[in-house]
Amino acid sequence: MLKTEQLKPKTHDASEKYSLYLYQFIKKWRKENKKSLPKYDVRCYKGLYGTYFLGYVYENNIVFCRQLTHIVHGQMETFAYDESWKVSQWEDVTDKFFAEYLRIGKCAIPFYKDDHNWEFLKNGMTRKCTHCGLTQKLKMEKVETYHKNWEVVNEMD
Ligand SMILES: [Zn+2]
Repeated sequence: MLKTEQLKPKTHDASEKYSLYLYQFIKKWRKENKKSLPKYDVRCYKGLYGTYFLGYVYENNIVFCRQLTHIVHGQMETFAYDESWKVSQWEDVTDKFFAEYLRIGKCAIPFYKDDHNWEFLKNGMTRKCTHCGLTQKLKMEKVETYHKNWEVVNEMD
């Protein structure tokens, strides 16, 4: 498992590659669960519909975790999920997720894609994310607009 310090953002700036909240979540988790590590270290699970969770599977298939997209918005509280959330079908993606997170930072988080750190090139016609390398070209299309108004054609008494 990776070291907490590997996930530490350099600044508190929004353009940072790593999430300050994700770093704080793992730091807090490891501090509070010090005695039960590494058994109950943070794992990453892919739940139904591709939602990612950080937490661990406790006995009887109870998962104590929080949705990753909530964590990166500062919501750190964990909840217990049971089979009503089909936890037995959740996939452990810990190694895959953290390898990707170390490489491209926040861009590795599903459903958090709006947070690319854009750098504009070619007079603003192209943008490239400095974290994951996604490059997009600006495509412009002319849109004609029609306004509808009712006009009187015969005066009524
Ligand atoms: Zn990106």
